[in-house]
Amino acid sequence: MNSFTYSRATSNAQALDGVKGGNAAFLAGGTNLVDLMKYEVEHPSALVDINHLQLAEIKETPDGGVSIGALVRNSDLANHPLIRSNYPLLSQALLSGASPQLRNMATTGGNLLQRTRCYYFTDVGFQACNKRKPGSGCAAIEGYNRIHAILGQTDKGPASKETCIATNPSDMSVAMAALQASVEVEGAHGKRTIPIAEFHRLPGNEPQRDTTLRAGELITAVTLPKAKFANNAFYLKARDRNSYAFALVSVAAGLEMDGANIRSAGIAMGGVAHKPWRVPEAEAMLAGKPADPEVFAKVAETLLRGAHGYQHNQFKIELAKQTIVRALVTASKGTSEAA
Ligand code: SF4
Repeated sequence: MNSFTYSRATSNAQALDGVKGGNAAFLAGGTNLVDLMKYEVEHPSALVDINHLQLAEIKETPDGGVSIGALVRNSDLANHPLIRSNYPLLSQALLSGASPQLRNMATTGGNLLQRTRCYYFTDVGFQACNKRKPGSGCAAIEGYNRIHAILGQTDKGPASKETCIATNPSDMSVAMAALQASVEVEGAHGKRTIPIAEFHRLPGNEPQRDTTLRAGELITAVTLPKAKFANNAFYLKARDRNSYAFALVSVAAGLEMDGANIRSAGIAMGGVAHKPWRVPEAEAMLAGKPADPEVFAKVAETLLRGAHGYQHNQFKIELAKQTIVRALVTASKGTSEAA
């Protein structure tokens, strides 16, 4: 582990000042960053501890939504009465992730920023990883790619400096994508709001960049619009074991019902791409339709349009389609039945 300086910020301004210049990082729960430092993947020269900032509040917004402070711990968020009653999709997603100990430490802002669990990214013994070492190639393309992307990846061959087929590992972010959250950030040039669909990015030609956050920007909160899916929500996570495992495929499904028909829907997938995968066209297909597995199967085909697998993850394409249909069928029966 490299040496680094440590400082503790007591205001947002002090935190922003602390990461100016150099290769500094904010430290919150540390559940991902500290591991990556131990693995020699991340080498910050300075850590600015933000745990004492006033960013740990969950409160209703004037328009009926909710604002979640960036330092709210994942356990506290999952179990908050407002989230449990109005946004059960988010609560379910959070409780499906990691372990109780990790959820007690991990923060909302940190969860948004957690990095891929691609084996070749976290093991510096492998030389080729464009995300860890830009321009070095991608070991996953011809390696063991069971957990890798089937949608939105950049694949120009193992030697290309642009190739990356990594997936985003977060469950929380998938539910937030289906709920159309916004990420509030603050930086040297002021505050801005980033729709979550534009917060995480596909690898494109810069696989080293996971998000659109600018250097030195601090996540201060996540806001959720007024709840629509409280009564019909289900987060379904397919994984190799039922606890403490990342998703092979996950689906966050929320339905707003109008009698027997669907008025609107929010659907996002995890474990399949470099960012939570949402296709508004697929959601629009459900408007005015009954909760019918045949309709859901067509939605699944639209969500998986263009999917492309590799030697060890071809199975994810069919798994994703089945998971979408099951999540939507379960959500349509009501949240209490799903939970
Ligand atoms: Fe690195 Fe991305 Fe390739 Fe994994 S998939 S080895 S993170 S470039």
